Amino acid sequence: MKEEIKNCQNCKKDFVIEQEDFNFYEKIKVPPPTWCPECRQQRRYAWRNERTLYRRNCDLCGKSIVTIYSPNKNLKVYCIKCWWGDGWDPASYGKDFDFSRPFFEQFKELQSLVPRIAVFNKNNINSDYTNHSGDNKNTYLSFCAFNDEDVMYSSWIMKSRNCLDCSYVYDAGERLYACIDSRKSFKCQFGFLLENCMDCFYCYDCHNCNNCFLSSNLRNQNFVFKNQKYSREEYLKKIEEYNLSSYKIRQKLYKEYLDLMVKNSIHRFVVSERNINCDGSMLFNSKNTKICFDSDSVEDSKYIYSVISLKSSMDLYHIGWGTELAYEIHGSKGYYNCQYCNHSADNTNMMYSDSCQNCANIFGCICVKKGEYMILNKKYSKEEYEKLRGKIIKHMESTGEYGEFFSPSISPFGYNETQGNYYMPLTKEEVLARGWLWEDKVPGIFGKETIAEEDIPDTIEEVSDDVLNTVFKCNVCTKNYNIVPNELTFYKREQIPLPHKCPECRYKERFAIRLPRKLWHRKCMNVGCENEFETSYAPERPEIVYCESCYNKEIY
Ligand SMILES: [Zn+2]
Ligand SMILES: [Zn+2]
Ligand SMILES: [Zn+2]
Ligand SMILES: [Zn+2]
Repeated sequence: MKEEIKNCQNCKKDFVIEQEDFNFYEKIKVPPPTWCPECRQQRRYAWRNERTLYRRNCDLCGKSIVTIYSPNKNLKVYCIKCWWGDGWDPASYGKDFDFSRPFFEQFKELQSLVPRIAVFNKNNINSDYTNHSGDNKNTYLSFCAFNDEDVMYSSWIMKSRNCLDCSYVYDAGERLYACIDSRKSFKCQFGFLLENCMDCFYCYDCHNCNNCFLSSNLRNQNFVFKNQKYSREEYLKKIEEYNLSSYKIRQKLYKEYLDLMVKNSIHRFVVSERNINCDGSMLFNSKNTKICFDSDSVEDSKYIYSVISLKSSMDLYHIGWGTELAYEIHGSKGYYNCQYCNHSADNTNMMYSDSCQNCANIFGCICVKKGEYMILNKKYSKEEYEKLRGKIIKHMESTGEYGEFFSPSISPFGYNETQGNYYMPLTKEEVLARGWLWEDKVPGIFGKETIAEEDIPDTIEEVSDDVLNTVFKCNVCTKNYNIVPNELTFYKREQIPLPHKCPECRYKERFAIRLPRKLWHRKCMNVGCENEFETSYAPERPEIVYCESCYNKEIY
């Protein structure tokens, strides 16, 4: 077994490349990486602006559009209709490769010329304020949302209806509020790891439960209050003591909910269901994977984050739907044998390309649709292409560029606009010191509030339709926010008081409850058990963390 210790060229820490990694690099004919897995992950994060939206005009039809590109950026941006239309030709921006200059420099130049799509959305109805989304109706300020209806302020939400402030909700979630990592649940509020639950409030890790309140680690239960079983009547009486439409009461309940999760629950070392020979967490239906998080149906892959349906790949972030032999890619689907690419769909044999669709055998291309044998958006014959591609790779080897994903320094986004800002936050100084980018003009209005926090009605019953014209001030970041009509309907129906935080701070709050995408080697905390495991709970965390068998004994 060959195993090599390398020094990361970015953070200068040592990292290990294992024999199986070398086998993969050999198979797809790429050199081993020079950055450690963490830094590689960060580099991909820097290319994903998932949720920072701006208004600017389409550079073709002139209409005002919602886009992920701030107006001050030197980029051409087209609305979805213009971008997909025949009114422009990506090949008209084609450039000859200049062997006297580095590849990335030429790629960056091309980037400023070729029109980019405003947002990555498809088949949405009345859902302008979304990104990385498709097949939605009436979806508002939600991201990574697919097949949803009437969903607001949520992210990574699929096949769900009437949900607000949710993250990682799948498969027919309905009437959910502030739920995280939950499936097939109905009418639940403040839940984490719920499955097949109904009318559960402030619950953690419950399956097949209904009418449970401030409880955790339950299976097939009903009428459970603070982990105590009651009769239906007793339970309802307990619940009635809380006026759920009051903000003050909700604040107390939220604190109790956080306490319940941290102090009074058993935590399985990872969330892993129906997997064979896998490590990682929030992982489902997978086989032979390593360091794999927030993913489903992954096989023979490593360093995988937010992926659905994948085989034989490494170093991916937000990929899926039938991808194989992919390496160092962000945001794509339907790939075969593609490396070092950003946000594209349905491509084969592609390298170093960005936002390309239905292409085969292209290299260094941007926003090409149905292209073949193209380099820097210029068309070649098959023979010319292969010869030139080989020459460019040799050139990139000599400049030290080959084998590296696009640097954050040529990302179309400031680091603070991207998911890097959430997963691996850096200060402006740290970002600039690395030669990466920072966006000073991120959206946000301040100081225009028309109501003080203490004047916000405590209960939702006291709120009238005038609230739709009120400007609020977030009690965390001080940014202004407002309430939209669908949102008010939701709060009234579900008896939820008005929020005192802006949607962004609410997202961050949910984000903080989820575990990091990292593993630590630890021992089971059940007294007398010697089992060890790789867990996403850091050793210094306060939660009680059990191995699989101790957890199962305790729960079932
Ligand atoms: Zn590193
Ligand atoms: Zn347009
Ligand atoms: Zn805020
Ligand atoms: Zn144990």
